[in-house]
Amino acid sequence: MTQEFATDVLICGAGAAGLALALELARRNVSFRLIEKMDNPFPGSRGKGIQPRTQEIFEDLGILDRIVAAGGRYPPQREYQGNGSYAKSDAMEHQNPTPAEPYQIPLMVPQFLTEGMMRERLIELGQRPEFGCELTGFEQDESGVTAQIVGKNGEEAIRVRYLVGADGGRSFVRHGLDIGFPGKTLGVRAIVADVMLTGLERDVWHRFNEGSMERQMALCPLAGTEMFQLQAPIPLEGDVDLSAEGLAALVAARTGRSDILIQSVSWASAYNMNARLADRYRVGRVFLVGDAAHIHPPTGGQGLNTSIQDAYNLGWKLAAVLRGVSDPLLDSYEEERRPIAATMLGLATKLLDAAKRGEMRRGREVHQLDIGYPESSLAMENPGRERDLVAGDRAPDAPIRGAAGQSARLFDLFRGPHWTLLGYHVEHDAIPPRCGLRIHTFGPRGDIADVGGHIRDAYALTPGDWVLVRPDGYVGAIVASDEVDTLEDYLRNIGLAPAGAGSRQ
Ligand SMILES: Cc1cc2nc3c(=O)[nH]c(=O)nc-3n(C[C@H](O)[C@H](O)[C@H](O)COP(=O)(O)OP(=O)(O)OC[C@H]3O[C@@H](n4cnc5c(N)ncnc54)[C@H](O)[C@@H]3O)c2cc1C
Repeated sequence: MTQEFATDVLICGAGAAGLALALELARRNVSFRLIEKMDNPFPGSRGKGIQPRTQEIFEDLGILDRIVAAGGRYPPQREYQGNGSYAKSDAMEHQNPTPAEPYQIPLMVPQFLTEGMMRERLIELGQRPEFGCELTGFEQDESGVTAQIVGKNGEEAIRVRYLVGADGGRSFVRHGLDIGFPGKTLGVRAIVADVMLTGLERDVWHRFNEGSMERQMALCPLAGTEMFQLQAPIPLEGDVDLSAEGLAALVAARTGRSDILIQSVSWASAYNMNARLADRYRVGRVFLVGDAAHIHPPTGGQGLNTSIQDAYNLGWKLAAVLRGVSDPLLDSYEEERRPIAATMLGLATKLLDAAKRGEMRRGREVHQLDIGYPESSLAMENPGRERDLVAGDRAPDAPIRGAAGQSARLFDLFRGPHWTLLGYHVEHDAIPPRCGLRIHTFGPRGDIADVGGHIRDAYALTPGDWVLVRPDGYVGAIVASDEVDTLEDYLRNIGLAPAGAGSRQ
């Protein structure tokens, strides 16, 4: 029987995107159900690269340390030549951490471990995915969505305010909405498999026959496990033997070595590479996040990261609208995230072409630290700026010292579901306090000290400037003191009216 709003949000799919959205909603006390049609968690390593921007998000979600502890760094690559000799190279270009960018090195964490840490955090917040529960139909009207789900208790129809399709590349929700998924099949089919093997050292990423799509093979020691991840392009047509014997034969044929012995396979998949982008991310009360909205080749390690960042963008907006902020805030999700995916599809495809030539190097462009939303309707500057940092950019970190003398970082102030307002040489009282906003000032009588001038420099501030940082760590507004009225308007629009003035955050 249909109930009136059994819960506010139904998240379909408990992969990386669904879990990230669940974490965002759980820490804002939004009611939701997270359903997953598989009976058990996904067991494969597939999206194993955690980019620096996602590390910042994991820090905000309170899981970075445990994810670092569960995984590790990428080892150097060992590229074997045809004559048996080899050359060593770095898989990633390295940069040192800076005060503004504390994480510079992609981590290697098998996807099943990352998702495990996300589920653990979700349990800490009092929630968990419902495994063995499938979305089988839905329809929406002006006030909500009625969804059919089939789970351990049989069939159920539930009424929710919003439905989010976090249900992967073949998205049932995307099909149900009849959203186009244009793009191309890239003419590359590949194997990815998690295997136990003997005969290879674990301190390098072994790469054979780079540049040959017929003979390429990579065997990467999977951090945090005893396994290797095997990756190899295969012919577009024909059966593939993914058993230990089948993969052993492939390894022997491609490496020419008889000493590499595959003992077992814990997960394996043969897949065709595609680059596709959904025409829309939202239809009424239904949204798409993650692979449901975009799929691309794994080169560059962007898929999992982009999926998590979609959810990180949507989560606070859904929570705000459920608390009374007007609906157009939700339109900014597609406005901000779809162009990011379009750019990422181009990057992943470019890296795939480089990989075909044996020339792939992953540099800063895959770190996702330069992603921002300067064109967004949520980005406001008053007066307009032509400086290094503009509204919509990622909010940089910086070392600070509290007025009480303790050392900290700006990211410590940002951590959590609130907005943060930073004022530089301002009157603290100029902006009255309100629920959902934390105000910090630096300069005379500031509650924080700008150690080494890093905040001033990173945010390109002049005395009297206010910087408003969104819950997802992007600059929402930069406003001079004599324009604080416009900042007040902005704050009201996003549900941050002063106490006693109808704030619902
Ligand atoms: C073979 C392969 C290799 C990859 N390699 C890499 C890589 O090296 N690097 C990288 O960054 N990315 C890689 N990716 C991509 C990365 O794994 C994805 O981008 C990431 O998993 C996307 O997360 P998601 O939550 O959006 O989707 P998914 O992880 O696909 O999760 C969607 C979930 O929804 C569930 N679901 C589907 N329909 C329903 C329904 N009707 N009801 C309930 N639940 C449903 C599914 O069972 C699934 O668990 C790879 C992907 C594949 C397939």
